[in-house]
Amino acid sequence: MIATPVAAPRYVYDFDDPAGGGRERLGGKGAGLAEMTQLGVPVPAGFTITTEACREAMALQDLPEGLDTEIDEHIAALEERTGKRFGDQADTLLVSVRSGAAVSMPGMMDTILNLGLNDAAVAGLATATGNQRFARDSYRRLIQMYGEVVDGIDAHRFEQALTDLKAKRGAAQDTDLTADDLAELLETFKRIYRDGTGTDFPQDARDQLRRAVRAVFDSWKNPRAEVYRRAHGIPDDLGTAVNVVQMVFGNKGDTSGTGVCFTRDPSTGEQGLYGEFLVNAQGEDVVAGIRTPEPLQAMQQRLPEAFQQLLDTMRRLEEHYRDMQDIEFTVEEGALYLLQTRAAKRTAAAGLKAAVEMTDEGLISRDEAVARIDPAQLDQLLHPMLDPNASYTVAATGLNASPGAASGKIVFDADTAAERGEREPVILVRWETTPDDIHGMIAAKGILTVHGGMTSHAAVVARGMGKPCVAGCEALSLDLNARTARVGDTTLNEGDVLTIDGGTGRVIVGEVELVPPQINEDFQTVLEWADDIRRLKVRANADTPDDAKRAREFGAQGIGLCRTEHMFFGEDRLPVVQEMIMAHDEAGRRAALDRLLPMQQSDFEGIFEAMAGLPVTIRLLDPPLHEFLPPLEQAPEKMRERIKQLQEANPMLGTRGCRLGLQYPEIYEMQVRAIVRAAAAVRERTGEAPLVEIMHPLVGFAEELRRLRELTVAVASEENDVEYLCGTMIELPRACVRADEIAEHADFFSFGTNDLTQTALGFSRDDAEGKFLTHYLEDGVLERNPFETLDQSGVGDLMRIAVERGRAVKDLKLGICGEHGGEPKSVAFCHKLGLDYVSCSPFRVPLARLAAAQAALAEKGAAYVAAGG
Ligand code: PEP
Ligand code: MG
Repeated sequence: MIATPVAAPRYVYDFDDPAGGGRERLGGKGAGLAEMTQLGVPVPAGFTITTEACREAMALQDLPEGLDTEIDEHIAALEERTGKRFGDQADTLLVSVRSGAAVSMPGMMDTILNLGLNDAAVAGLATATGNQRFARDSYRRLIQMYGEVVDGIDAHRFEQALTDLKAKRGAAQDTDLTADDLAELLETFKRIYRDGTGTDFPQDARDQLRRAVRAVFDSWKNPRAEVYRRAHGIPDDLGTAVNVVQMVFGNKGDTSGTGVCFTRDPSTGEQGLYGEFLVNAQGEDVVAGIRTPEPLQAMQQRLPEAFQQLLDTMRRLEEHYRDMQDIEFTVEEGALYLLQTRAAKRTAAAGLKAAVEMTDEGLISRDEAVARIDPAQLDQLLHPMLDPNASYTVAATGLNASPGAASGKIVFDADTAAERGEREPVILVRWETTPDDIHGMIAAKGILTVHGGMTSHAAVVARGMGKPCVAGCEALSLDLNARTARVGDTTLNEGDVLTIDGGTGRVIVGEVELVPPQINEDFQTVLEWADDIRRLKVRANADTPDDAKRAREFGAQGIGLCRTEHMFFGEDRLPVVQEMIMAHDEAGRRAALDRLLPMQQSDFEGIFEAMAGLPVTIRLLDPPLHEFLPPLEQAPEKMRERIKQLQEANPMLGTRGCRLGLQYPEIYEMQVRAIVRAAAAVRERTGEAPLVEIMHPLVGFAEELRRLRELTVAVASEENDVEYLCGTMIELPRACVRADEIAEHADFFSFGTNDLTQTALGFSRDDAEGKFLTHYLEDGVLERNPFETLDQSGVGDLMRIAVERGRAVKDLKLGICGEHGGEPKSVAFCHKLGLDYVSCSPFRVPLARLAAAQAALAEKGAAYVAAGG
C-alpha cells in the first residue's frame, strides 16, 4: 500500500497571511493584529503561533516538530520586512512575545518584551535611541521578565535588588536612577540570573525566542490562569496563541512619540479629537508620570504626516469595527504604528450618544444601536451614582438590592428617619424593614438592611420608590439600644454619615461625591427605537397614583401589579385595618371594612385616572394579617391574645393570599366593590372606562379560583356594569402543573416569580440571601441569585408548563410581575416563553423596554446582541 503523504501541520502565520480559524486559532490578540494588518492599518509586523501549537506542546510537553523551523522562517521574513536583523549589534530587531487566548484573560498569562537584546545589542540600542539609560533599562527588564517567565526565578529577587539600589542612591523613583546606576543594576540582574539557573543570560536571540515561546505556552497552565478560567467558565483545553511582534520605539528622537486616542469622547460620546501624545517617549514614561502628555492636537504641529495618517486610521477603524475605538499608537522615526485598538470603555451617557450618532451617520442600524446598550448600564442613568472619580474605601458589601447611590446620616428607626429626614439626608439602617417602616423609608435617601434579600420588603419597596437599597449586609451588626452599628472594627453612631451604592451593594463610611441622573434626548431616542422592535409589553408594579404617573413617564403600558396591602398601611387606615383584624365576628369585621371601602375606592380612582387607556391589574389582599399588627412585645395588652392566635411558624406558607380571601370573604368583597365603584366613577368623570383586571393571589387549586371568581362576579354584578377581567397569580408549583384546570376560571395569569422561586426551590425569600444562598454563590454551587435572575431551568420550566397547559385551554393573557420582570436575562426568557408582558418597578421600565427589544433582536438571529439576550 502506498502511504498518502500528509502535509505537515502549519503553526505559524504572518499577520498579513490569512490563516482562517479566527480567534479560536489565532487568539483574540493575534486575530486582531491580523485583521488590522489585512485592513492596511499600520501595525508592527509580526506573526502568530497558533493555539493548536500550544495544545500540541501541552500534549507532548515539548514544542511540536517543525515549529522551530517555521519560527526561523518567519523571523527571516520579519527581518526582510523591517530591514533589521534579529541579534544584530547595531540597530537590532527586537520583538515582544505575547500570549493571547481566544477569550481575553487580562494579565493572567505571560509576556516578554525587548527579546533579542544582549550585551552587545544594548550598546546598539543606546546609539539608535541616543539614550543609554533607556537601552540599559530595556535590557534589565528583559533579564527580569525572561528570568521570571522562562526560568522561574523568584520575581522578588529582582525587585529587591532594584529596591536596594534605589535605597543606596537615595532614589525615590525608578526613574531617578542614572545610566551608570542601571549599568550596575544590569550586572546584579545577570548575577541573579546566573545564581538562579547556573548559566549566563542567553546571548543568542533565537535561543531566547525559542525558550520564550515554550514558556508562554506553559503560562496557560499557571495557577492564576487556571483560577481565572474556572471563575469565568473558560475551558482548560483551549490553549493560548503566541504573538511575536516587532518592538517599535517612540523614543528615537523628535520624529518619534507615543500616545493614546479615542475615536469619540469616552465620557460624553461626542465626536472630536480625544487623546494624549508625548514626543520622544515610551508608553512607560506616561504611566510612570515622569512627563505630562500633551493633548493629541499637539501632534499636528510636531508630526503632521503621522497625525494625518492617525486621523485616517481612526476613521477607518471605526468604520470597520462600527464602534467607538480606544487606540494605542507609537511613532518611530516618522512611521505610525498602532499597538492596539479595542472597543472603547465608555460611560452610559457616552454609549447612548455614540449609538445615536453612529446611527445618524449611517454607520450602524437602529437595531444595532439598540442591541449595543447594556441595560444594566442604562440603569445608572436613572439614578444618582457615585462619582467615578471619587476615591473611597468600601467598609462592607451587601446585596445590590435597588440601584442608585445616597449619602446621609445614619438613623436606626423609621420614626427618627421621618423626623430627621425632613431636615437633612438620612440613611435608614435596620436589621430588616417591615411595612411599619414605610414612613421612614419615604423620608430616607437610602435604605441599608443587615438581613433580607432581593425580594425582601426593603428591596421591593425601595425599588418601587427608585431609592437606593443595600440589603443582606451581614457584615454589619446593630445595637439598637446603644444606637450603634458595627462594621469590622468601626463603631458608627446615629448621626454619623454613611454612603450606600445600591447598584453594587457597597457601603462606605463618610460622604462620597455623587453624580445626578442623566435622562436625556439620546436616552429617549434609543428607547423609542427599542419600542419599535419589541413584542413584549412592559407594565409597572405601582401602588399609588404618583407611582402610576411616574411609570407612565418611563413608558409603562399599564400596571401589572397593584399591591393593595400597601394602601392598608396609611396612617388613617392602619387603625381601621387593625380594628377589622381584632373584631370577634363577621359583623365586626364588616363594620371596619365599610369604613375602609371609600378609602380604597379613592386610591383606585387615582390609579385608574393616572393610567387612563391602559390596563391596571389590582391584586387583592395578600400578606398574612399579623403583618398589620405590632410585634407582640410592643403591642398593647388588648391586642396580645389576637396576635398570639394569628402567629404562625411559617407565615409565608400560611394564612395569606387567597386563603385569607376564602376564610374571610368580606375582605375581598369590600376590595372588589371598591374596584368596580372606582371604575364606574372614573368612567363617569372622564368618559373613558378603565381597563380593570382583578387578580387573586397564591392560588394553587382550581377550586380556590372557582370560588373567588364566583365571589368577584357576585359582588360586581351588585354594583355598576363595569367590564373587568378576573385572573390569578401563578406563584405555586401546583398552580403551574394544574394550570389547565385553573385556566378554566381565569382570564389571565400573572407569574409571581418571587413566591414561585421561594416555593419551587424551597428557599425562603426572607432568609436565604445573606445566609446559605450567599455561601452557594460564593462557592459556585449556584451561579446567580435566583431571586434576582430567574432560575430558567427550574422555575422557568414550571412557567413553561403553566403557559402550555393554560394556553391549551384558552387564549389567556400572560404576564410576570415578580421582581424578575425588570431583570434583562429574565425579560429575555419571558419573551421566549411567549408572555404578553413583563411588569416591574417604574424605575426599571426603561431597562425592561430595552431588554425586551434585545430579546426580539436575538430571536431574529441578530449576531450583535450582546446584553440581556
Ligand atoms: C410574587 O410573589 O412574585 C409577587 C409579585 O408577589 P409578592 O412579591 O407581593 O409576594
Ligand atoms: Mg407573591
